[in-house]
Amino acid sequence: MRYRWMDGEWWRQVPPRLTRLWRTSLQVRTVAITLLLTGAAILVTGVYMSLSISNDLYQSRLDQALRDSSRATTTAQSTLNASDASTGDAGRNLLNSALQDVQSATSSRLIAAYRVPGQDAATPSPPDRSSPGLNDVISSELRAEVQKGGTKQFYQSVALPGTDGNTDPGLVVGTQLTLPSYGHYELYIGYNLRDAENTLVFVQNTLALAGLALILLVGAITWVIVRFVVQPIRVAAETSERLAAGDLAVRIPERGEDVFASLARSFNGMADSLQSQINQLATLSQLQQRFVSDVSHELRTPLTTIRLAGDVIYDQRESFPPATERTAELLHTQIERFDRLLSDLLEISRYDAGSVALEPEPTNLVRLADDTVDEMRTLADQNGSELRLDAPGGYFDVAMDPRRIRRVVRNLLGNAIEHGEGKPVIVTVDSNESAVALTVRDYGLGMSQQEVNHVFDRFWRADPSRKRTIGGTGLGLAISLEDATLHAGWLQVWSAPGAGSCFRLTLPRVIGREIASSPLPLPPFDAGATDAQAESALGAETEART
Ligand code: ADP
Repeated sequence: MRYRWMDGEWWRQVPPRLTRLWRTSLQVRTVAITLLLTGAAILVTGVYMSLSISNDLYQSRLDQALRDSSRATTTAQSTLNASDASTGDAGRNLLNSALQDVQSATSSRLIAAYRVPGQDAATPSPPDRSSPGLNDVISSELRAEVQKGGTKQFYQSVALPGTDGNTDPGLVVGTQLTLPSYGHYELYIGYNLRDAENTLVFVQNTLALAGLALILLVGAITWVIVRFVVQPIRVAAETSERLAAGDLAVRIPERGEDVFASLARSFNGMADSLQSQINQLATLSQLQQRFVSDVSHELRTPLTTIRLAGDVIYDQRESFPPATERTAELLHTQIERFDRLLSDLLEISRYDAGSVALEPEPTNLVRLADDTVDEMRTLADQNGSELRLDAPGGYFDVAMDPRRIRRVVRNLLGNAIEHGEGKPVIVTVDSNESAVALTVRDYGLGMSQQEVNHVFDRFWRADPSRKRTIGGTGLGLAISLEDATLHAGWLQVWSAPGAGSCFRLTLPRVIGREIASSPLPLPPFDAGATDAQAESALGAETEART
């Protein structure tokens, strides 16, 4: 088994993940900032406390050492003052007993005594004495001060040899002793401050541990508190997302009396009014749809009668005077137009009511396109447009509703002929592994981008004043789009003013399967081609086919 961290690249993921976490989680951000600020405050306080405790400890140990040394020196000096020894051995003993007095009067075992240099040496004076280790640490500066200072006390911080080969922090206090008949001696007493240092280390460790524990505690408390605060906000955010996605029934649970409860209340109030308005609109829209559908149905019967009567009049038009004949023709065209409009309205109202069902059957799109092209040829001829089918692929059966797809192709072709200004109209069919597609390309007026944006809108026409030979209703492309969508297909358009238009219908090879890409390009390969180019492209292809 391989773990991600074995790849050796996992650490590259860490900074971006941390950055994302920082950006996305309010909780992480708050806790991190709190930890940082608390840590800084605790560090400053800890350092200050540690320094002041260390100063205090040192000062009290110094005071103690100075007192101790002063008391021992006084005791020894009074013993010395009471003595009358004045010769060699007696003098040596005298110094020894004075040092013993010092030792018994102090808490220290580190004592040294040196004869102050430059004194009259008539009688052999007692030799210098020093406890091991003390001699080396007394600096010459301290000695110089003690030699000049008489009975005054001087001190110095030193590193004393410790028990386990290390050095211990220490203090040396120096002053002078006077041996009657032998002169002045420098007396040094060393104090080991190891215990004070141990106390300080203990205090510092305790402070550090307490500080760390405090930081963790503050972090945990912040985490919990922020969770308390963030949780309702998270719920509100999720709820509003679901509401925006269309789930109108979601609400934030209202608990308590606090600010979140009032947020929840106002949010829920807003959601309620939104829901009721949308429901109202939906009801209205249903009513409207029903109205359109009912009216269309109601109009069907009288229209059929009118149509029958109109047909009779139209058939007899030649027997009428010319003006009446013209009226009969006009009546006929308008009745046809009315009929088409009514059929389109009924169809769109069926879509709106959601009562449209696909009736798929295996259909060859090339054959379907060929049939429709033949059907429209007369109209194309009337408009002076050459109609051509070009099918590099798509010669197999695909499940589709042929009635609907035929209607789409017919509508696209009708539009192309109507707006193609007598220029050629090319229908192309092709297929790939996921889809079959059909394009209808014309080289007519074309549309601006703004017009293209509305081309599938109901009742929309680019220019209502354009000459209308076919008499469209403005619903054709809206119905075509519904038909394509019902097949889970696409209906798309490219158009440019003066360069014509290209409508592309793409259908999945298997109903319900997703279309990966369309087999035909949009914009078409000759997008932007001029009229002359279009003619010559057509000529070249016609040649190639013959
Ligand atoms: P209509 O019944 O008016 O043709 P459609 O929905 O089929 O309704 O088309 C809507 C409008 O789109 C048309 O009125 C026309 O202005 C524009 N249109 C459609 N096809 C083309 C085309 N090939 N070239 C230019 N304009 C087009």
